[in-house]
Amino acid sequence: MSDGIIRALAYDGQVRVSAVICTDAVETARQCHDAFPTAIAALGRTMASTLLLSWGLKGEGHITLRIFGDGPLGGIIVTGDAEGNVKGYVQEPQTDLPLNSRGKLDVGGAIGTGDLYISKDIGLKEPYTGSVPLVTGEIGDDVASYLMTSEQTPSVVSVGVLVNADYTVAAAGGIILQAMPNCDEAVLDDLEARLQGARPVSTLINEGAGIADIIRNYLPGVEVQLLEENPVQWHCNCSRDRISGLLKSIGVEELEDMIENDGETEVTCHFCSTRYHFDRSELEEILAGMKEDLAKD
Ligand SMILES: [Zn+2]
Repeated sequence: MSDGIIRALAYDGQVRVSAVICTDAVETARQCHDAFPTAIAALGRTMASTLLLSWGLKGEGHITLRIFGDGPLGGIIVTGDAEGNVKGYVQEPQTDLPLNSRGKLDVGGAIGTGDLYISKDIGLKEPYTGSVPLVTGEIGDDVASYLMTSEQTPSVVSVGVLVNADYTVAAAGGIILQAMPNCDEAVLDDLEARLQGARPVSTLINEGAGIADIIRNYLPGVEVQLLEENPVQWHCNCSRDRISGLLKSIGVEELEDMIENDGETEVTCHFCSTRYHFDRSELEEILAGMKEDLAKD
């Protein structure tokens, strides 16, 4: 099943539903970071959450999830945009812990205690940022807690990643059910009950389920109004131009030192691990550009 996302409404518009399959995107992330199973499960769940929360983004808008815990994984940063592009970074990708007491990848243990930050840039002057303390570090629970605390939206969030014995990603995806302000108490109770009874999203995807099948699994017998289906994909927007912009930001003196002492530099993109090499003449060209800019001011 190829990667994609479905937006839908259920219970006569009282509940917003998004479901995503992002197996290929998470496998690409694994390759970029050479991530071990616990680390890719954590990063992949955060990627799925980011895509699920990108509802309503337009144009240049984007959403960023940051998780900072005191566990061995360090931080996680994932950004998604209106086009279904997603990229992610995990600080310690070679983290791998023994399975937890339920026989699952121990994402909560790898993340530890800390906070989840979400910033949404929808084209206003300042992006909106909110945060909550992590509940379990299992990510789905933490995102639901954020939505309840920060947006007063009762939500059910289930995200999952299944990893093969050879460490490749077998399945990744998720579903989110969000109560709209007009939602009946009875519908909320029904959603909670359904979450308990539903099979894990990653298991369904691994068995060949499509995105619509994930929704049907959670809401059997409920009328669902499909709004849109779009592709999602791993994409990093780094480029040589952006990196030379970064080099400019280090300052004239530092750059002169770099040219004098090293004569070259290599910058690696945190998200996709692409390496950008700059030799002496390229660094000198950047330096000349900086001096020109300074002379203009
Ligand atoms: Zn990159």
